Amino acid sequence: MTAVTLDDLARERKLLWLWCAGCGRERDVDPLSLGLAGDMPVPDVGKRISVRLVGGGRAVTSAPELHPGGVTQYRERIR
Ligand SMILES: [Zn+2]
Repeated sequence: MTAVTLDDLARERKLLWLWCAGCGRERDVDPLSLGLAGDMPVPDVGKRISVRLVGGGRAVTSAPELHPGGVTQYRERIR
């Protein structure tokens, strides 16, 4: 089984979830908004770049969205 890529997420209209182990910040972004190659495996994204969106830390985890619409929307729904 091959890893899910940024293009796969975009095709399925899913967001990319980013989480920083350093500061705990997280957010979901458009998978193609980071300017990375579309064929990049999703788990590699957090290893390749220091994501300013989650505080610029280097310990960033990247995965397909955990909830439809992203975790931020999910938290707001259950609040
Ligand atoms: Zn951070």
